[in-house]
Amino acid sequence: VPPQKRYLIGGNWKANGTLAQTAGIVKILNQGGAIPLEAEVVIAPPAHLLGYVKDNLRPDVAVSAQNSALTTKPGAFTGELPAVLLKDFGLNWVIVGHSERREGFGGPGETDDVVATKTKVAVDAGLHVMACVGEKLEQREAGKTTEVVLSQLNAIASKLAREDWSKVVIAYEPVWAIGTGKVATPEQAQEVHESIRAFVKEKVGAQQAALLRIIYGGSVKGSSAPGLILKPDIDGFLVGGASLTSDFVTIIRAVK
Ligand code: PGA
Repeated sequence: VPPQKRYLIGGNWKANGTLAQTAGIVKILNQGGAIPLEAEVVIAPPAHLLGYVKDNLRPDVAVSAQNSALTTKPGAFTGELPAVLLKDFGLNWVIVGHSERREGFGGPGETDDVVATKTKVAVDAGLHVMACVGEKLEQREAGKTTEVVLSQLNAIASKLAREDWSKVVIAYEPVWAIGTGKVATPEQAQEVHESIRAFVKEKVGAQQAALLRIIYGGSVKGSSAPGLILKPDIDGFLVGGASLTSDFVTIIRAVK
């Protein structure tokens, strides 16, 4: 299976992971048996655990940061993670534009433009990027899902060169499905994934669109993964809560 066409399964631990819990999850993954040839697995622990996880996790599972900085250079940016330093440290992946970061944490959230620039900065630093898009419940109910998702995507596409797309994965994560236990139906997810691929085909190119991996995130479980993965435009998952448990191994197995 060519790397670009392997299903991508991302585990986003968010701000979770005591040392004891982390050791437990790493053990589950290390003892979880063979990863299907069709799958590429990437774990995104919180920043303070990146080194530990990189050193202790099986080598056939990649490690990702959950965010990276706007700055292209290291320097006086207290608390930030420049993409060039993540790359230098031996990491190859970052999540950008997660809805929790777009929302902010009591402070200003990341705008479409910030997310798009971070994506470009990370790609230029040599990282692969899982760039997240997704509508809120009120936007879906107002019939604005496609409009919202494609405008987030357009911001990203506007900053990228055609060749950058080989390093980009789009994660469709409807905000109403994240951490709520309310997973999108395979049909709901497929509809949006299809419009994302059509947009990339139109705006970037047919080859980039065909090779683009579009992954779904939002309350994915071992029980819902098999139905979702059958859809033609669902190329993997970004998993939050379930990535902290052995259910993640079930999700990985579901892509065979
Ligand atoms: P969830 O989170 O699986 O806990 O819903 C997904 C995500 O936020 O990436």
